[in-house]
Amino acid sequence: MERQAKNILVTGGAGFLGSHLCEKLVEAGNDVICVDNLYTGSKENIRELLTSSRFEFSRHDITFPLYVEVDQIFNLACPASPIHYQHDPVQTTKTSVHGSINMLGLAKRVNAKILQASTSEVYGDPEVHPQEESYWGKVNPIGPRSCYDEGKRCAETLFFDYRRQHNLSIKVARIFNTYGPRMRPNDGRVVSNFIVQALTNRPITIYGDGTQTRSFCYVDDLIEGLLRLMDTGDDVTGPINLGNPAESSMIELAQLVIELVGSSSSIDFKPLPVDDPRQRQPNIDRARVTLGWSPSVQLRDGLAKTIAYFDGLLRSEGRRAVR
Ligand code: NAD
Ligand code: UDP
Ligand code: UDP
Repeated sequence: MERQAKNILVTGGAGFLGSHLCEKLVEAGNDVICVDNLYTGSKENIRELLTSSRFEFSRHDITFPLYVEVDQIFNLACPASPIHYQHDPVQTTKTSVHGSINMLGLAKRVNAKILQASTSEVYGDPEVHPQEESYWGKVNPIGPRSCYDEGKRCAETLFFDYRRQHNLSIKVARIFNTYGPRMRPNDGRVVSNFIVQALTNRPITIYGDGTQTRSFCYVDDLIEGLLRLMDTGDDVTGPINLGNPAESSMIELAQLVIELVGSSSSIDFKPLPVDDPRQRQPNIDRARVTLGWSPSVQLRDGLAKTIAYFDGLLRSEGRRAVR
């Protein structure tokens, strides 16, 4: 698909997904403004981009107003890992709610298309499996995950109200668990935890009995889905699920990581966190039909690339012996 060069704002652009997105947008010849308060992101993620004249970084918290002139906004700012979003839950809700209001106000003023990085967490602990976009979800409004889940749900409400009230061109992507290089080793998410534990031959921590499931999408596939969604006409608003329907239990994931790393790690069962969803798998029929998109990277191949990334990182930090 032909993509014309644009001025594009990426909030959360120094994070895991945001940095990959900025890279693809710059490669395609766009001018990118990356706004990030570096709460969970880092300048290291965008180090190579900083040398490009098409890329600009601004340290800013989107809960405060932002005045820039752009054609498109990808709103990715928000900590995504449970340990980080629960560290300062009020700030997490503010980022989703006040942050979205500011970015929608900006989109309204400059007449920009705006895409929200929503999440499969809007489905909560789902009673419908696999999850399709018409399912309203089962979310605890007052638990430790609520700051993230309800913040993201409210952000979706705001996006659709700005659409109805101000006729904005909105896109809502419901992203399912995504992994790949540039996840932080201490992020607390399952893929990074298991890989770092396996590489350092420490016990793999499985929360609960490990029969809970997730469906893991490799980062390159996910970014392609976001780009295609932004390229759609004004009639396409979503919500639209983006993820890989291949579902694994946490035990299966642990075994695969141990095998791919060739690790001698044992498995250590730990208590299951409160409100941890039992199962999660996207129905991606809407993405297939509307965007002509489906993921192409198998879990085994994506994990191998991610393991290679963490291996390099740990060696450079001296946490893994060079063989
Ligand atoms: P991440 O934590 O690596 O990135 C989030 C970025 O947002 C970080 O760079 C952080 O510093 C920045 N940020 C946080 N609060 C901010 C604020 N108030 N102002 C400015 N910047 C702020 O997480 P990620 O995995 O890259 O997730 C990116 C987006 O995608 C998030 O909105 C997340 O909810 C969504 N998402 C991710 C996944 C996934 O599996 N990775 C799944 C569903 C949804
Ligand atoms: N806003 C912003 N940048 C802009 C325009 C608006 O950050 O370029 C913020 C503004 O501070 C406001 C929010 O977006 O709080 C919502 O703007 P909107 O115009 O929708 O509402 P209003 O200004 O009427 O409250
Ligand atoms: N998990 C685990 N061990 C870990 C980290 C997470 O078993 O070291 C489990 C967690 O309880 C959940 C699943 O892995 O059931 C996915 O967790 P993650 O935090 O990556 O994503 P989310 O729960 O937000 O989908």
